[in-house]
Amino acid sequence: MNLLTLAEPTTSKFNARFVLTDSGGVQRDPKQNLVFPNVVAVDDYLWIAETESIPYAYITGIELKEKNTRHFAHLKWRNAYTGEMYERFFAARDALGAYLKKPLVEFSDFLEERIENADFHALCERFDLQDHEDLPQRTPPHRGLRCEACDSDGTFVEYAAMFSILVYSSISPRKPRIHCAAHNRIHGIPYYLLTICTGWLGPGIVDFPFVSARATKAIQKSVSKPTFWFLNALPALLLLGLLVGFLLN
Ligand SMILES: [Zn+2]
Repeated sequence: MNLLTLAEPTTSKFNARFVLTDSGGVQRDPKQNLVFPNVVAVDDYLWIAETESIPYAYITGIELKEKNTRHFAHLKWRNAYTGEMYERFFAARDALGAYLKKPLVEFSDFLEERIENADFHALCERFDLQDHEDLPQRTPPHRGLRCEACDSDGTFVEYAAMFSILVYSSISPRKPRIHCAAHNRIHGIPYYLLTICTGWLGPGIVDFPFVSARATKAIQKSVSKPTFWFLNALPALLLLGLLVGFLLN
């Protein structure tokens, strides 16, 4: 059981169609689908389309913002396993592209009440998780984790990959998982290989050093030290090779 990948709720207390924006409220992906609800909230957690679930106990705040004519919301939360802070910016837009304020206010009001009353102990009980007496924000329940695939000892990892072909480049959403060493290799190595083999092609080269570093870090604990250093150095060697090739041409 992974707190960050709880299933899409079948019922909802609140749902909305939001688009992701940057920190200035500008929509990131102009093609983002506006048809399906992509934020669904239930009693214990917020579910964001396909990528993650966020228990209310870990949300640290939501703030409404405005820049020029753009209304958007800034959501901040803490990773339940690592304590690391995350943030996302959302906006609601109508068919003509106008930024709507009302859905954001409703979302913010709904969340603030839930955050205030978040019952972490009830959440642990419902999902059969190890409980902690401390506030979850201070002490993430990162001990005693079980692999999602085989139930042996596991650790929290985040997979990342990118794929590029000449004029097109795409970075996969973060995949938070709890895996044992064996399953970490099974899942993490394909992400690493996909990134190494295609990530540097075309426009992807700008993000390649960052994504390849994340893909390498995801398998750090499950491969031997020399293998890790080799995997870690490979992207830099690849870029150096490209640069030398370019200069010699
Ligand atoms: Zn496993």
